[in-house]
Formats: sequence, C-alpha cells, structure tokens
Amino acid sequence: MFGTKERHGFSRRTLLKGAGAVVLSGHLANLASAQDRKSSQGIQVPYSDGRQYPTIKVPENACDCHHHIYDPIRFPYVPEDVRNQPPAGVDAYRLLQKRLGLSRNVIVQPSAYGFDNACTLDALDQMGANARAVVVIDPSISDSELSAMNDKGVRGIRFNISRGASKNHDTILTLAQRVHAFGWHIQFWMNANDTAEMESLLHQLPNQLVFDHRGHIPQPEGVDHPAFKVICGLIEKGKGWVKLSGLYQDTKADGPDYADTVKVGKAFAEVAPERMLWGSDWPHPSIFSERRPWPDDARMLDLLAVQVPDENARYKILVTNPEQLYGFNKT
Ligand SMILES: [Zn+2]
Repeated sequence: MFGTKERHGFSRRTLLKGAGAVVLSGHLANLASAQDRKSSQGIQVPYSDGRQYPTIKVPENACDCHHHIYDPIRFPYVPEDVRNQPPAGVDAYRLLQKRLGLSRNVIVQPSAYGFDNACTLDALDQMGANARAVVVIDPSISDSELSAMNDKGVRGIRFNISRGASKNHDTILTLAQRVHAFGWHIQFWMNANDTAEMESLLHQLPNQLVFDHRGHIPQPEGVDHPAFKVICGLIEKGKGWVKLSGLYQDTKADGPDYADTVKVGKAFAEVAPERMLWGSDWPHPSIFSERRPWPDDARMLDLLAVQVPDENARYKILVTNPEQLYGFNKT
C-alpha cells in the first residue's frame, strides 16, 4: 500500500530527470557527489520514505530550519517522555542533508528532553558553524548559561505549549525578555486556538516570533481559522515568522500531496515570502507516535515549489531568511 511508486507516482524517468536538474544547478558543495546523483539509487535515510533526490533546484547554503536530534543512548529521555523515539543522531541527519542537498540546519530541542538541552547542544558542537539551535528553558536558568548557549549557536527558545508548557503570561514574558537581551527569537509549538487566545500577549513580546508547522492551523477551517489572521497581523508588524514544515501535521488530505496543508502554506507565503522558513521536521516524531508511514522528505521539499512557485521567493525561504533570523554568514 505504501510502495514509493504508488504513493508518489515517481517513475524512473522522473527520478533521473530530477537528479539531472540538481547536477546542472552546479551547487555541489556539501551535497551528494556528482556520481551519487547520476545513479538512480538515491540515498536511503532513516525515518524517511523513498530514496530519490528533490526535483526542485536546491541552492547553495539552503537551510533546514526545523529538525531534531535524539540520542537516547548517550542522553536518556526525561521520565515524562512517552514517545521513546528511536535514536536519530547527527550521522543519520547528515544522510538527510546529503539526499536533500541542504547544508545548514537548525536543531530544535524536542519534548523528550524537557528542559535538558544537553543532546541538542552536543549536536551543535558536532555540527559547527552551519548549525544553530532552539532550546527549551525554565525560569531557573542563569544568565551565564544563556550566554554559553549563545556562544554555541543557540538563537531562540521554544515554548512547547502543545506539550503542557505554561501558558502563564508573566512566565512567558519574563523568559522572552531575558532572551531578547541576546537577540533570540521565540518559537511556539501550540495549537491555533491558543495562538488566537494569546494574541495580545504575542503583540507584547519584544522578540521575533516563529510559528511551527504553519501555526498548526487546523482543517477543515484552514485560512478561515482566526489564528491565520493573528499570525498575519504579527507578520505585518514585522515580528512574525512561519515555518512551512511538517505538511503531515494537521492534514486531513494526507500525502503524498497534502493538498490542505499545502494550501495553508501557500496562503502564508503569499502574504510575506520574506517571513517564511522551511523545515524537514526530521525524524518526524509525530509520525512515529502515531505509527503512520514515514513521509518522503524529498517529496516534501518539492512541495515547497507548489506552495511557493516563484524561484526567487524560494531562494529567500531556503537561504536569505534563515541567514537573517539565525545569523548565518551572508551568502
Ligand atoms: Zn518537530
């Protein structure tokens, strides 16, 4: 039922054509070798369906702005963790980068580690200057710890409201102000009703605000849900960002086309391509929890071109916008 060919309709010819397009783009630094790309074998990546390369042109210094690293052998999960995600370390992630042609990445602290960012920070150490991270902190953290994290490449904090993090306005405002001193942004993992409810607080926060997975706008409401307008209002004010990531989240249409979540992504991108980011959400923890079949990461990167048909706008989303938000060197 889930054979690659049937789910995605890729013929061998499409595969070869896609691989050829990437070779011709000439951006081979950090990517699969030309030899790899000429072969129709592709690259198998853990927790990802298919092996083929994206068919869209992936520019040099393209960034995956949302993925996670899980290393339960060296860094055990917190006792509250119920997911027990299998190991998904830096080496496995490197395979995904190679397959997708990405060279920069943003590691997002997953809920399995609670407030203990050791695994995420270790991955930052391993990955060097092309990596940044978003951590999850509690109010007891010291300024010197924040400063050390900043030196390593942390550029934001995440409030996992969907996983029971405090919605207390004072707690959020206090932490937001503390990390604003480092120029960090706030990333929200929360459902759309919470976003709509928290509108006035969101406007009070001094930071740039990043919404995961298209703000988790639910279906079938889609862009008619009030949160869509709330996020657009924040974008207009110059402080809202949206991750066009995890198309399999909040979809009722499902893959391989994710017609409903693609439509929401397209609507956001039409408002402000300069405020959009793209992320793989690898290793797809929600898919693992729900025991759904692994998504095809190359296919999902290709769907960026459906949401954002203009190549210049896609360049912003993959290269320029991440440079601005996460402070990568300018290309
Ligand atoms: Zn995620």
